[in-house]
Amino acid sequence: MNCQKARVLMSAAVDFELSLKEEQGFLLHLSECKECQDEFDEAKKTKMIIKEKIVQFKAPQSLIDSIMELTSVSVH
Ligand SMILES: [Zn+2]
Repeated sequence: MNCQKARVLMSAAVDFELSLKEEQGFLLHLSECKECQDEFDEAKKTKMIIKEKIVQFKAPQSLIDSIMELTSVSVH
């Protein structure tokens, strides 16, 4: 797996939506690629922060959608 493929799988990985095979390939790539490892850590952190905020403010779904949109764009 290369970085490009890993980045594509990353958002699904944050949501634990990868198939077993995809996850294995993804984790293997992370184990040998510091850059994607950092990226994945950031993605997980961002996801947690968003979840907390949603619970905290009980944001309307439309706002949640636009936040999700923003964060998926910012993950390069
Ligand atoms: Zn990589």
